[in-house]
Amino acid sequence: MRDTLQTSSEIAFEYARWFVNRRAFTLQSDRPHPGTGRHYYYRPRSREDRSSITAWDIQRHLNGQMTLGLYAINPATQRVKWMAIDADYRRAVEDLLRLQYGLGQTGIQAALEQSRRGGHLWIFFEQPVLARHARIFVYQLADKLNVNVKGPGGIDGIELFPKQDHLDAGQFGNAIRGPLGIHRAAGRRYWFYGAPYDLESQMAYLRGLRRVTERQLLELTADVPSVLDAQATWVNRTFDPNRPHFRILDFVHPERKVGRNWITQCPSCAAAGRDRSKDNLAISVEEPLKYRCWSGCTREQIRQALGVATPAVA
Ligand SMILES: [Zn+2]
Repeated sequence: MRDTLQTSSEIAFEYARWFVNRRAFTLQSDRPHPGTGRHYYYRPRSREDRSSITAWDIQRHLNGQMTLGLYAINPATQRVKWMAIDADYRRAVEDLLRLQYGLGQTGIQAALEQSRRGGHLWIFFEQPVLARHARIFVYQLADKLNVNVKGPGGIDGIELFPKQDHLDAGQFGNAIRGPLGIHRAAGRRYWFYGAPYDLESQMAYLRGLRRVTERQLLELTADVPSVLDAQATWVNRTFDPNRPHFRILDFVHPERKVGRNWITQCPSCAAAGRDRSKDNLAISVEEPLKYRCWSGCTREQIRQALGVATPAVA
């Protein structure tokens, strides 16, 4: 039996003030996908006049009658009301607790929510802040605390919501399950650890969290004059052989940024005497663990060219 409630519209409006930053939303399917068995999220179609979130949707979400997915970035402002750090690997909760503690050291109260395979750590802003700033801040903190960011090739690590610094017109980014709803597959709620497991106590807990101000956020990233410089801290980091996974930026030092990528010579192409124009390798600025060679070298070839053995897959 699902636990269903009758949520007041006041609660729904309060929830919306904290969590809803744009009208678009997603819904989790009630039925598992016949192929994968997963309950996917989909965006209701506008022709059904169901593309804009309402207080009633939030009430139904909190009542447990349907489950919302929420987008972080408002594309008109590129700002977010919250940042959620998602982790769903073996040591996920350990990493999230480390981040929560690290945030606490800087005066930030972050709320840890359970999830199916790990957790979501939420940071709330008093006024919406630029997605870019929030992401720089969390990336830096993760780096400082040695918490991995999810990368290519199945590297375990945290994922940030928003996943983007910026949305172009017509884009939505990635939605995350709205807290305090009922997961359609698990048939249960995932509560915040910080309060008793009932809606009223949970709302009171969230209400009592100190919100991060934009000024505070800017102060915390004050040693970072620009996004480019923030990303350069990744580029200039020294190689640490004890680091558990491969970071391309420990090996190559791109000087050019084109759009969303760092561009430099592909080590594998270089070894074969190609890529003299030094522009085959693209490394995502937003997610520096992602890279590719435009002439088609595989990751394996690139790593071999760098003399880094690929760890055996268990
Ligand atoms: Zn190549």
